[in-house]
Amino acid sequence: MADFAYKVVRARRRSFSVSVTCDNRVIVRCPMRASEKSVTEFVLKKSAWIDRVVRENSAALSLFEGVAECRYLFVGGRKLPVLMSNKNLITDTCVYLKDNRSVKSMLIKCFKDEFLSVVDKMSNVTGLKSESVCFRNYRSRWGSCSLDRVITFNYKLLMLDKSLWEYVVLHELCHTAVFNHSAKFYSLMRRFMPDFSERRAALKKYAYLASLQI
Ligand SMILES: [Zn+2]
Repeated sequence: MADFAYKVVRARRRSFSVSVTCDNRVIVRCPMRASEKSVTEFVLKKSAWIDRVVRENSAALSLFEGVAECRYLFVGGRKLPVLMSNKNLITDTCVYLKDNRSVKSMLIKCFKDEFLSVVDKMSNVTGLKSESVCFRNYRSRWGSCSLDRVITFNYKLLMLDKSLWEYVVLHELCHTAVFNHSAKFYSLMRRFMPDFSERRAALKKYAYLASLQI
């Protein structure tokens, strides 16, 4: 038996698949009429992979402990304690915060100019232009690019290191030219950022942060 709980989702499909959410819920998808035995066998076959992902997620969950409640925030990728205050201010060692609802506006106020200068710089280097740029509180993604080339960033990206800003900015700028994740898209990424896959891996560690609703 697998030593973790999992949810089985039956659907009109032919194959089995398993996914682990960033808060460690294991979801197995299978054909409508799959037997209990075949589901158990599939889970057992995948258990080493599931264990590994669950362990990685647990490490991430402890890294982000206290962030959902705004006891800590990330600044430049560093976890800083938050002190409730009558002002919003970011220092080298802590963040002063009026109330939990002002996290988004504070981060945008502090970092918007710097972030937009990264967008401009990447735009100039690549020749790829967006129609406009805005921020919102996405649940699972770092950014998106609409067909009319409006780029929207997850404001929580502003908590991360500049090298990860550059990665997400370039990713979305490349979507102004290629609207999918095809080989053409990745060759464009590689052309302007040869180390993009390292940065993508570094960003992956913050997936849980992207999903936090703060
Ligand atoms: Zn994309």
